[in-house]
Parts: sequence; C-alpha cells; structure tokens
Amino acid sequence: MSVRADRLVTMSHTVDSAVSAVRAYIEQHRAAFLDDLAEWLRIPSVSAQPDHAPDVRRSAEWLAARLEETGFPTVEVWPTPGAPAVYAEWPSGDPRAPTVLVYGHHDVQPAAREDGWDSDPFEPVVRGNRLYARGAADDKGQVFFHTLGVRAHLAATGRRAPAVGLKLLIEGEEESGSPHFRALVEERAERLAADAVIVSDTGMWSEDTPTVCTGMRGLAECEIRLSGPDQDIHSGSFGGAVPNPATAAARLVAALHDEHARVAVPGFYDGIVELTDRERELFAELPFDEDRWLRTARSRATQGEAGHTTLERVWARPTAEVNGIGGGYQGPGSKTIIPSSAFVKLSFRLVAGQDPAHVEKAVREWAAEQLPAGIRHEITFSPATRPCLTPLDHPALQSVVRAMSRAFEGPVRFTREGGSGPAADLQEVLGAPVLFLGISVPSDGWHAPNEKVELDLLLKGVETTAYLWGDLADTWRHEP
Ligand SMILES: [Zn+2]
Repeated sequence: MSVRADRLVTMSHTVDSAVSAVRAYIEQHRAAFLDDLAEWLRIPSVSAQPDHAPDVRRSAEWLAARLEETGFPTVEVWPTPGAPAVYAEWPSGDPRAPTVLVYGHHDVQPAAREDGWDSDPFEPVVRGNRLYARGAADDKGQVFFHTLGVRAHLAATGRRAPAVGLKLLIEGEEESGSPHFRALVEERAERLAADAVIVSDTGMWSEDTPTVCTGMRGLAECEIRLSGPDQDIHSGSFGGAVPNPATAAARLVAALHDEHARVAVPGFYDGIVELTDRERELFAELPFDEDRWLRTARSRATQGEAGHTTLERVWARPTAEVNGIGGGYQGPGSKTIIPSSAFVKLSFRLVAGQDPAHVEKAVREWAAEQLPAGIRHEITFSPATRPCLTPLDHPALQSVVRAMSRAFEGPVRFTREGGSGPAADLQEVLGAPVLFLGISVPSDGWHAPNEKVELDLLLKGVETTAYLWGDLADTWRHEP
C-alpha cells in the first residue's frame, strides 16, 4: 500500500477550516486539560518504590476514569503481578478503517525535592510556558495529549467515533524495566491486535526541528566467565607455563572489533537492513552539532565504525560494547598471582534484520574459538530486546508526518533511537509496525530534577493526533 500523491493535493484545500476547528477546540479546552493533567501529576506513581505501589494503582484508576470521561466505551485496568496497566478501546465502526494501538506508561521515575528540584516534584507548577513536575514529559503529559486529541478530532469532524479504531495500552512498570509487559501483551494479544502501534514515550530533535522517530535498536547482553587454575596460584612458581584467564579476557575483548571498528564476530552483520541513501541524506540534513554532542557525551573524541557518521553509528548501526571487565587482584599494592578467574560483560545493540538468537549463537561460537586450551568459559545471555524499524514510505508513517507538519506548520524530519525499549515486544507479538509520536525535547530532563514539558509542544501533540486519525483512515484502508 502506498500513499497517493493526489490525496495530498485534495487535502490542501480543506486544511484551513479543519485546522481552525481543531485549534479553536483545543484553545477552548486547554485550561481544563492542563488542570486535569496537573491532578494526575500529583499522584506519585513511582513504580520502583514499593511504598508507592498504592499510588501506582491510584494513577491507573485515575487514568481509567478520565478515559471513560473522554468517551472510550471500553476502559479496563489490567492487573499484572506488579503494577497495573490501563487499557481502553474505541472502535471506529468502519470495518475498512485501520486500528491503531497507542502505547505509553503511567508510572514515573523516583523524585525528591532534595535531589535538586526547585519545587515539589509532585506539586506541578507552571513557570513561563513550562509545566514542571515528575512525569510531565515522561510520560503522563505525552499519554494525556491523546485524550484531548481524540476529542478535538471528533469535534472538528462531527464524528461520534474516531475515524480509526483506537486502542490505548498504558503500562505501569516502564520505569522499572517492564518486567511483566511481554507476558501481558502475549496474554492479551487478541484484544490488543492493531494495524500499527504508536508509541508516545519519545522525543523530537528540538523545539524548532519537529521529528518523527522511525526505529529503535535492539539489545542483547551477556556475561562471559573465564576460569583458569582452580585457585589463584603463585606467578613465580607457575607464571609463563599455564594460561591466565585475565589475559584471555583481555584478548577476547581486543578481538571484538577489527581495525575499522567493525564488530569482528563472524556472522554478526548477517541480514541487517542497511541505511538507504535517502535515509543517510535525511540524517545529514539534521542540524547536528558534533562538538555540542561530544560535550553531552563527556568524551574527548568520537570514534566508531569506519564509513559512517556519528548519527548513523548511534541510530542505525549495530555495535558491540564492553560494559565491564575484571579479574585478579584489585586491592592496594601488588599480589603476584595468576588469578583463577576473570569476567567480561558485553552488550550488543542490534538493528533491523538482526535476529538476537542468531547473534547469540555467533557470539558463543566466536568466544569458544578465541579462548586457549585450559581456559574454561561460561556465557550467560539475558533476554534480548529486538530492534524495530518502520520504512519511510510506510503509509502510517506518512500520516504521522503529515499530521505533525500541519500542527507544526513546517517540515518534519526523521530520527531514530539508539536505545531499546518495550515497544519492540508490541511489534513482535502483534506483528504491527511501531511508529513513534513524541513531543518531548532533550531539555525536558527525563529522569532528572526539574523535569518539565513545554506547554506549546504538548498542545502541538494534541493537535497532531487530532489530524492523525482522520488522515490515517483516509489514506490507509483495508481492502474490502
Ligand atoms: Zn518513558
């Protein structure tokens, strides 16, 4: 399916009245929307702290009540062995319309005044054009814009149900690593079925450069434990005549990359989706200031895979990183031993096309080949997160871009995310592409003191979704 150009031309004739109807509706309901959001932000739904468990439940119930008020005919609080998620559903009534699942979370990171907040993190305040509170951007603000957005969509189009089937899944454990999310999605896969997933738990490039993120890297992690002699032994009596596990660990790490900083594990790059020329051009168009980025990185130089820019390296190339290495004597002074053991902790960021199981197998084979006789090893992999990527010409992505450029009145560019997240589970279990619609900016201070959201951008989020559902339904229909 592709988006037809004539559709764009017809649309431009109707833009003005639709835009003004949406904006008028938002303006009229802005104050009540912000009051409601502030009420939600006052609930300290910190999933990491057991004494806040009742608050996380209260946050789920609060949201469920608001979603009912918004008009969702089905709203449920879904328990998990940990914190509850909130599910809401609003069918479009049109069997040819696509169904979209919105993902976000209602739990927040811990916060206390003494961490350096200028005001109580759970007593929202507006200073200038910013709303300060824990969760203002990550993620309550970005979840909540969907409530006013769908109402603006209905008001501006005169519809009684959204133009697309709309489902919301707002989890309560994201800030604790989503331990029960995958099981929840698998268990409820039928209810959650959707043609596309929209994640509103991300950001844009900057206030002046609205962007849509098109993919996220995956993650595979392992620990390799190396054992040599059965105990630490004298380096004078035995040194030079038996293998040393710390030396083996260092050699293993040194063998991980070649001289072009490419990962040297055979088979590691098998099947990867390469960047297209167009994607590379689009990355290059972003106003990227490498010196500034380096200062944020607190590093003195950039370094990485030959033939790729910094943005390509962090967004679209797979990596191998040494997260930890150890073994032998760590105390003061010296101790002349051959240690009995050593360890290496590695992580691999994966891109579309890479299969975590294949990477695991490749790493196991590679490690076994590197190690000398007499060094035994044991590799433990943690559960992997898959990468996700939506092609630029995907019709749902095109709709997000059009809706966002109407709201922001300018071009929308593309980014990707170098990190990894639970959205990949939705892609894998539901078999639906994942799109990222976030209005947060880097200065919002996620997980930091004085987290805030820019009110203008928050309302642009509302506006974007008000256009998005109609655009999606118009341009991406199920064939009868
Ligand atoms: Zn978040």
